[in-house]
Amino acid sequence: MLETTNKHLIIGSGFVGLGMAESMKTADIPYDQVDASDDIGGNWYHGVYETAHIISSRKITQFTHFPMPDDYPDFPSAQNMRDYLNSFADHFDLRKNIELNRKVSYVRPIADNLWEVTFDNDEQRIYKGIIICNGHHWCKRFPQFSGEFNGEIIHSKDYKNSEQLRGKRVLVIGGGNSACDVAAEAARVGAKSVLSMRESVWFIPKTFVGIPVSDLIQWWVPEWLQRFTAYLIILLTFGSYENYGLPKPNYRIFDKHPTLNNEVPYYIKHGRITCKPGVRCLDGEEVEFVDGSRESFDLIVCATGFHLAYPFLAPELQRVEGATVKCYGGSFLEDYKGIYYIGWTQARGGVGSLLSASAPIFTRFLKLQDQIKIPMGLVFKEMGEQLPKTHLQDPQKIFRELKLVNFFFNRIVKKAHQIDSQYSDFQNSPLPPVAKEVVGSK
Ligand SMILES: Cc1cc2nc3c(=O)[nH]c(=O)nc-3n(C[C@H](O)[C@H](O)[C@H](O)COP(=O)(O)OP(=O)(O)OC[C@H]3O[C@@H](n4cnc5c(N)ncnc54)[C@H](O)[C@@H]3O)c2cc1C
Repeated sequence: MLETTNKHLIIGSGFVGLGMAESMKTADIPYDQVDASDDIGGNWYHGVYETAHIISSRKITQFTHFPMPDDYPDFPSAQNMRDYLNSFADHFDLRKNIELNRKVSYVRPIADNLWEVTFDNDEQRIYKGIIICNGHHWCKRFPQFSGEFNGEIIHSKDYKNSEQLRGKRVLVIGGGNSACDVAAEAARVGAKSVLSMRESVWFIPKTFVGIPVSDLIQWWVPEWLQRFTAYLIILLTFGSYENYGLPKPNYRIFDKHPTLNNEVPYYIKHGRITCKPGVRCLDGEEVEFVDGSRESFDLIVCATGFHLAYPFLAPELQRVEGATVKCYGGSFLEDYKGIYYIGWTQARGGVGSLLSASAPIFTRFLKLQDQIKIPMGLVFKEMGEQLPKTHLQDPQKIFRELKLVNFFFNRIVKKAHQIDSQYSDFQNSPLPPVAKEVVGSK
């Protein structure tokens, strides 16, 4: 068994895994990195449809310290994102630590606060800690239907290009960003495009007065003012929901992950997208909606989101409740040290700017963890932090909190040592190996 007891293992080389790797490298923290896929880039390499463009702007999606090329548009394409992540890996010389086609199948704590990692080829290694960056857009969530459908049913994750929609009568289920992208593409190339939403969603335009909406909000703007600005922009861009034959959404904007899309309102106005309420049942080639109306379809695309899942973790470490991981400081457990859950939250910003701000602070906490016996999560808990209740995050609030943590870091270190001194000893409780069962994650 390969002993790498002085190293951490980063699982995943998507946007988040690469960002963490760069930060660990900069902080001189030894690590290995693995990815189940045959290339780096995660979702942007293997997980999104050909026509995907980011919804957050280039400015907030890029790593702040590694800007996207000047000739990129405000909303780069999936190909732009792939190219960008590859140039990030090259620029920071990250590739030599990355092993591709290397899938983690089981992770468990063993004696001496170490971690045993089993790969799907049965290889085992021992690590000092595990940085989990496996993404949260891969474990498909399907709705429950009653009845049978004669056509094809796929998840938005299985939608790759517009040929799958061409000439077809398409029903898209969902009101999120993928649902809107697929419905708009079906409006262009399909025989018909129907969007079924259980409830109306707030459509936020991607730009206002020519500027990406996300770029109009600064870090110091409180959430109430962000909400007010968003309502105003929606009103000035689209007007009233009645104009589109839609009920007004019955939730406060940002209480759900926002849908940034101009195309659905546009195609509704052109009669190329019809909106329907939720599905009541399937019946042959027809679908009945809860308002009693029925329509025929060839293809149903369920853009109904994803479960957050860590199939390779020992059950005791699967701390997922709904869409949140019950951990402190966004990543840390109170009862185990050396395991870190990264990138599971859903901030309504761009991933890169958040990583640029948070990853260097995370590495400071990793170093602090080395100085104390108890898990960092326990320190956060003792300092009064609560477990998260939601995965939705206000990025501006995160930026403000990170500035504070940075400013008061020395005080946090002092407090951590004080709390640590109140505990006599701490050891992770080892967990047993499982019978060989490679849990498929992708
Ligand atoms: C359609 C769509 C549009 C999006 N638009 C935006 C946007 O506009 N702005 C934005 O910021 N974000 C957007 N996102 C979110 C997107 O997921 C993030 O930008 C980013 O890809 C998240 O990176 P990640 O590294 O957390 O996850 P991923 O990109 O999913 O990477 C995770 C990696 O972990 C690897 N992995 C998983 N399990 C294992 C295992 N057991 N062993 C080894 N390797 C493993 C996977 O192979 C993968 O490469 C969008 C997502 C989708 C689906």
